[in-house]
Order: sequence, then structure tokens, then C-alpha cells
Amino acid sequence: MEMAATPIKRIVIAGGGTAGWMAACLLARFLPQPHAEIRLVESDEIGTIGVGEATVPLIQQFNGVLGLDEKAFVAATQGTFKLGIQYRDWGEPGNVHFHGFGDYGDTIQGIAPHHHWLKLRRLGDPSPIEDWSMPFAAASRDRFAPPQMIEADGRDSAAYKYAYHFDAGLYARYLRGYAEARGVTRLEGKIGEVELDPASGHVAALRLEDGRRIEGDLFIDCTGFAALLIGKTLGVPYVDWSDMLPCDRAVAVASARHDPLTPYTRSTARAAGWQWRIPLQHRTGNGHVYSSAFTSDDEAIETLLANLDGARVSEPRMLRFTTGHRAKFWHRNVVALGLAAGFMEPLESSSIQIIQTGLARLIDYLPDRDFDPAIADEYNRLTGNEYARVRDFLILHYCRSRRPEPLWQHCRTMPIPDALRHKIAVWEASGHVPLLSEESYQEPSWVSIFIGNGVLPRRYDPIVDQLPIEHLRGGMNQRRAALARDAERLPLHTLFVDRVCPATLAA
Ligand SMILES: Cc1cc2nc3c(=O)[nH]c(=O)nc-3n(C[C@H](O)[C@H](O)[C@H](O)COP(=O)(O)OP(=O)(O)OC[C@H]3O[C@@H](n4cnc5c(N)ncnc54)[C@H](O)[C@@H]3O)c2cc1C
Repeated sequence: MEMAATPIKRIVIAGGGTAGWMAACLLARFLPQPHAEIRLVESDEIGTIGVGEATVPLIQQFNGVLGLDEKAFVAATQGTFKLGIQYRDWGEPGNVHFHGFGDYGDTIQGIAPHHHWLKLRRLGDPSPIEDWSMPFAAASRDRFAPPQMIEADGRDSAAYKYAYHFDAGLYARYLRGYAEARGVTRLEGKIGEVELDPASGHVAALRLEDGRRIEGDLFIDCTGFAALLIGKTLGVPYVDWSDMLPCDRAVAVASARHDPLTPYTRSTARAAGWQWRIPLQHRTGNGHVYSSAFTSDDEAIETLLANLDGARVSEPRMLRFTTGHRAKFWHRNVVALGLAAGFMEPLESSSIQIIQTGLARLIDYLPDRDFDPAIADEYNRLTGNEYARVRDFLILHYCRSRRPEPLWQHCRTMPIPDALRHKIAVWEASGHVPLLSEESYQEPSWVSIFIGNGVLPRRYDPIVDQLPIEHLRGGMNQRRAALARDAERLPLHTLFVDRVCPATLAA
């Protein structure tokens, strides 16, 4: 029998960090009021986590859907542009490789270019695979322009993407402006209690410490690591992945701006973890992610402070985390996003992306007030797959490194998920990467980390041998020359930022 729909009327977002304000913006965009009332509660006293400053290209879709103006957005967040991640010392000390946002060029005779590169390498060509990557060609010269500019110029090396670095606090503020302008109501206050409806077990209302009571139909838990609704109130357990990703702490510190502004994030492996470097217009963000089983907090701080490229401009901040996720991301009438849903270390800047895909999924599967559990089940299945695929990609960075220190030895021998073991086996046997459901990172990303860490397949695709070697060498040399030429003609990233989108707020 057909049932009358009972649309969601009142949405309550608990928490106003990146997750809360992203949710507020997207819901306000897709559920324009007055059809649904959207309220967000945040506590100035508690504040936000204040990190989360590097992104992946999917964020452009988010900005596009909201209709944000790129220049205004970058200017308002002290932002810079990101073409990928430079990895230093990961496969072994001295090793440098680049995970760029793009592929290594078109297929050649239907075969992905890395197979052709593998053949040339076997024949003694020492050039790195990055030579076929436009993001690398630009990034290694500290140059940047959006691909549309190159396309408009009639050149064809434009198959690359980019993302942003920004100040997390300013990002939340920027999104808040967007959401409030579209009718989202912000309530400042501390949530003291979460009331459950005794009959359904659903969350009925948030009770603030000052006595205000906020009722809702759908609650979005964006309360960060506190996970007030999904964890503390509904008791959804946490699935702990620390045995596969042993880093559990980070120390973050800002240093003075360092020119030139690199159009990429840098990740440098350290004895017990790794260090990030994120260039912003007003400062550089730095952090050391490490495993407390393999180093002390004092040593971790010392390592970070000894490896800054500008004067320190903030006090070191310590952060603790447990890698993993909630066993259910959506339970009853609560959907958790951001750190309340789970966290994996920021090695590939995946967290903001996972907030975004979670929101897109929620909008696709927006429930009625009857909250049919089948919808939540599907949401949880897809989101669980997404987390697992990102987890496997992160583990790959560690599990085949040849670094000598105890953390890295541990990572070589620790048990890894079957899906990752399968991926590595297929890669080593064939040079192909089998992608699974809900992969965030596509084949060129996996290829980049495999090859970058020195994990090479035993063979390349045999169809490659159909191409005469002189054609392959000629084509390769042409592409390398074209990329170098195109990259040289791009503006320096520093100049592009300073001229096109200089910060609108004083540092
Ligand atoms: C070391 C580190 C580095 C990271 N780097 C990156 C990165 O480079 N890229 C990336 O994509 N992600 C990164 N992340 C993840 C990223 O920071 C988060 O995913 C993102 O900031 C979202 O956080 P959040 O909004 O879930 O939580 P928070 O920022 O912690 O916000 C929680 C909100 O809930 C509110 N709140 C909590 N309790 C209450 C209460 N009782 N009453 C009222 N309000 C309450 C708080 O006031 C706050 O507004 C990093 C995370 C860590 C730990």
C-alpha cells in the first residue's frame, strides 16, 4: 500500500566545525527554507579542532554546487592551490615522489601509460613516471594556473585537477556566512543533554546548558571527537583500526609564511610517523603525526620544531585520535559526519572529502520522518566501503616501505586487510589495480604510491609490445617536452595567488 510521505521538517546540526557548516550549507542549498528549518548549535567555549587545511579536488564539486566564487573563497580563507602531495623519505630515506591530481596522460593503444613507462624502465630509461604528469611538471616549478587557462590557450596538457589549502577556522567562518544568508539559524551554547523519545529511541531534542530545548526530526552529529549523539547517547560502538594504522597522535604548529608558496602539500616520513607542511598565504601549517607506541610526545614536538622552514608563530598543539569509525554512521534519526563519524590520519587529506560524500549520500537518500531502516542500512553500507577503501590506500603508504626504524618494521609485518592484500597481489602480477566499490582514489593515485614507494609489478601489459619501441620513445619524449613547455608558461604560484586572490583579511 502506498504511504503518505511525511517529509523532514526540522533538521538540527549539532556542532559547527568544518563538518557542521558544510552540512548546513549543502542542506540549505538543496532544501531551501521554509520547507525545512535548519538549525545549527555550536559552542564557542568548546571551539573546533582547528586543523584540516588540505583538500582533494572533489571539493571543487562542493564549491560548484554551492556556487562559490573561487577567487573570493581563496581570498577569504588565506588559501593557496594544491596540485598534489610531495612525499619525501617514504619508500626509504632520500626517496622523493609526487602524488599529483591527474593521470599520466592518455592511454596509448588503449593501455594506461604506466605500462609503457614500465617497459621503458626495463629497457634502462631512468626517467621517473612523474615526467608524464602535468601536476608534477607545474608543481616542481612552483607554478600554477587552473587547467581552463591552459585549455583556453589551445594547449592539450590540461588533464589535471587541483584542490586548495586553507585556514580551517576561516573556512568554517566562510561557510557560516553562506549558510546564514540562506536561512540557517545558528545557536550558540553548550549541549548539556540529548533527549530520547522513549517509544522510538530516536533523538527528540537537544537540551542546552542554559535550558533551551531544540527539537528536531533529523539530527546531524557534527560534534567532533565527542560524538555526543551517535556515540555518547545512542551508544554506537567505535571500530578501532589502530592495529593497521598505528599513528594515534599529532602535534601541530604554525610557522611564518615561506616563499615561494609551493602549490602542493609536503609529507615527510619521520622515524615514528610523518610530518605535514601546508603553505597558506599568512602562514605555513605544520604537523607531526606519530605513533605513541614508537616515540614520546616530547620527542615528537622536538622533531617537528627542528624541521620548520620559517619562524614558529604559534604554540604546539597536541591532538590525540583513534583511527577507525562508528559501526554505524546513521542510526535511528542521527547521521554522524566528520570526526564524530570516524577519523583516519590526514596523509591523503581524505576527511573533508568523506564529509562531502557523506552529505551527498544523505541528500540522495533523504529519509521521511518514518526513517525506514533500509535507507540507513544502504547509507551505512556505502559509507563503510568508502572508509575501508581509504584505509587500504593509507596502509599502502606504510606497509611496503623499506625504512629501518621500528615503526616501519612493524608496518611491514602487521596484518593488512584482505582487500589490500589482493590489490597488491594483482598489481605485482599484472601492473593493473583492481578498483572496488566506493574507491575515493582512482588507478593513477594507486600507481603513484606503488611506484613511488618502489613496489613494481613483475610485468607490464603485454599489448605494450605491439608498439614499436621507437614510437614509444618518440611519444614519451614529445609528451615530456610538451609538459615542460606548458609548465614553464604557467605563472608562478606565488604570483598567481598574490595577484588573483590575495587574502581579504589581515594575517
Ligand atoms: C591532526 C589532524 C590533521 C587533519 N588534517 C586534515 C587535512 O589536512 N585535510 C582534511 O580533509 N582533514 C583533516 N583533518 C580532519 C579535519 O580536521 C576534520 O575532518 C574536520 O575539521 C571536521 O571536524 P569536525 O567538524 O567533525 O569537528 P570539530 O572541528 O571538532 O567541530 C566540533 C564542533 O562541535 C561542537 N561541540 C562539541 N561538543 C559540543 C557541545 N557539548 N555543545 C555544543 N557544541 C559542541 C564544537 O564547538 C565544534 O563546533 C585533520 C584532523 C586531525 C586530527
